[in-house]
Amino acid sequence: RTVYVNGEYLPETEAKVSIFDRAFLMADGVYEVTSVLGGKLIDFEGHAVRLERSLGELDMKMPMSREALLEVHRELVRTNEITDGLIYLQVTRGAPGDRDFLFPDPETTEPTVVLFTQSKPGLANSPVAKTGIRVISIDDLRWGRRDIKTVQLLYPSMGKMMAQKAGADDAWMVMDGKVTEGTSNNAYIIKDGKIVTRELSTDILHGITRAAVLRFAREAQMEVEERSFTIEEAQQAEEAFITSASSFVMPVVQIDGTKIGDGKPGARTARLREIYLDESLKKAV
Ligand code: PMP
Repeated sequence: RTVYVNGEYLPETEAKVSIFDRAFLMADGVYEVTSVLGGKLIDFEGHAVRLERSLGELDMKMPMSREALLEVHRELVRTNEITDGLIYLQVTRGAPGDRDFLFPDPETTEPTVVLFTQSKPGLANSPVAKTGIRVISIDDLRWGRRDIKTVQLLYPSMGKMMAQKAGADDAWMVMDGKVTEGTSNNAYIIKDGKIVTRELSTDILHGITRAAVLRFAREAQMEVEERSFTIEEAQQAEEAFITSASSFVMPVVQIDGTKIGDGKPGARTARLREIYLDESLKKAV
């Protein structure tokens, strides 16, 4: 596999980053994951805009123009012959010569920029979309700026381990009695025919897939309610699902062992998945 590191395309075995990199020492970096379907990028623009925002919130700048970034994505898709898969992008505050809590001077410390591809043949035809996933609920013990897409993923990683140990597929995190989001996705229920998902704030990541799905849902005359909900309300909902760049729209059929509806993926969820994939493919670059 060819990867991109700081301006160079290299075989993955030759790519190197300093041990003083701030992301390695302090999780001082942000990332994006963009999906590739049929060799094209899904919602590149949305991911580029969010990257710039995440960097800005941490006093960092875009390491290159949006056009240049798109070209790096495309070059990796070409070189690695990716038809369906993901592109991982990480920008860190770089590697000053020593460990220090204070941010280094951006004039002398360049950001570290890394991109690599992950091939996932048949990404959009995952059999799991037909059966749905089971989630457990866990306390949301993350820091308070979840709107910044940092590489600080230890708690989400622990959450996935807790889910696996409980025989489930993922975890929904709960703060003050209400669901915030999934470990790597946004959470939704459908109640009285309305799509319900937590409102945007610093408590959740502003999903690029979330924005697209809500827009397509409104265009298809489906009602949307942006508000938080409890696990109990979700367990009694008509349908439940998650969204993310890698799973698109994925049905949730069980929460803490309780089946949602008849325990099968809901019809509206399936329709939303179809609309999302159709519309996103039309706009793919
Ligand atoms: N919430 C969290 C915590 C995430 O990690 C992700 C995916 N990285 C999402 C939501 C979904 O965001 P997107 O649709 O942009 O992939």
